Amino acid sequence: MSNTVLTFTKETIYKMKEHYQSTITNQNPPGSVFVAKPNGCTITAYKSGKVLFQGNGASIEAAKWGANEPSHSSASKPSATKKKRITANSGKYAPPRNIGQLSIIGSDEVGTGDYFGPITVTAAYVSNDKIELLKELGVKDSKDLNDSQITKIAEQIIPIVPHSLLILRNEKYNELEQSGMNQGKLKAMLHNQAISKVLTRVKSENKVDGILIDQFCQPEVFFNYLKGKSIPWKSGENIYFSTKAEGIHIAVAAASIIARYAFVKEFEKLSKMVGFELPKGAGPKVDQKAAEFIKKHGEASLTKVAKLHFANTGKAKRLIK
Ligand code: MG
Repeated sequence: MSNTVLTFTKETIYKMKEHYQSTITNQNPPGSVFVAKPNGCTITAYKSGKVLFQGNGASIEAAKWGANEPSHSSASKPSATKKKRITANSGKYAPPRNIGQLSIIGSDEVGTGDYFGPITVTAAYVSNDKIELLKELGVKDSKDLNDSQITKIAEQIIPIVPHSLLILRNEKYNELEQSGMNQGKLKAMLHNQAISKVLTRVKSENKVDGILIDQFCQPEVFFNYLKGKSIPWKSGENIYFSTKAEGIHIAVAAASIIARYAFVKEFEKLSKMVGFELPKGAGPKVDQKAAEFIKKHGEASLTKVAKLHFANTGKAKRLIK
C-alpha cells in the first residue's frame, strides 16, 4: 500500500475536486476539503493545500497531479514522486517560453464535473496576428467570466476563430461509459477529434506552430487512451500539454469560452425540456433536483440529462425512498 503526500495550490485543489466529483464521499475529516475514492485509492485534500493519496491506485492518481507542482513531502515513495515531477517539467511536451506569441491550436473541455448536461470539447486555432484582437474582445480564462459574459464574447469570436466544437450528450456519454470507457478516455477521444478537424481545416493556408492541450492527465496517459486510434497530428506537429493552459495561450482560452458557451446553451435546453432549472456541479442541490427529476420523468429518463455513473444517481434514489 503506498502513501503519497503532495502540496497544491487552491486552484489545483478546486480542479481536483471537480475531477473527482463523481467519487467524492460523505466523509469529512477535520480540516479537509474533500475525500474521494477513485480506482482503489483514497484521496484526502486538506485546506492547508496538502493532499494525501492512499491505497493501491495512489501512485497513479498522485502522478496525475504531482507532476505539475512542487511536492513538498511524500511518505513512502519519495523517489518515484520526484522522478515523475522532473520528467514532466523538462518533458518533450512542455510549452516553449515564447508560446504566447505563436500561432497555436488550443483545446479544452467543459462539463466533466457537472452531473447534469453534456461534455463539450473545443479546439480553436488562433494565429499570432489575431492574439491582440481576441484580447480586446475580452478573451481570457473562462473561469473569470460569468455566463452572460461568456455568451457575449463567444458570439463575437465564433465567426472569426476557426474551431471545432464537439458535444457529447448524456445518452451517448452513458452508453460509452457503460461500455467501459472512463471519462479520461472519452475526453482524450474528443480532444483528438476536435484537434484533427481544426488542423485539417487550417493547415493548408495557415502556419500552425503547435498544438496546446489543457492538460487533464499526463501526456503518456493521454496517448495511451488513444491507442489504436488514428492521431493525425501526433507526428509532424509540435505538441504541448499544460495545466492552466488558458493562461499560456489565448487559443486555449478561446476554445474554453466556445466550449462553455455550448455547454450553457445545451444546459438551458435541458432545463427547458425537464421543466425546471437544473443546477450545475455535483453537490447536494444536484441530488435533490435529480430526485425531483426521477419523480417527474421516471428513472429511465435520467440517462438523457445526467452522467449516470456519478455518485449523485445513488444519492438521488436514496432521497426518494
Ligand atoms: Mg480544462
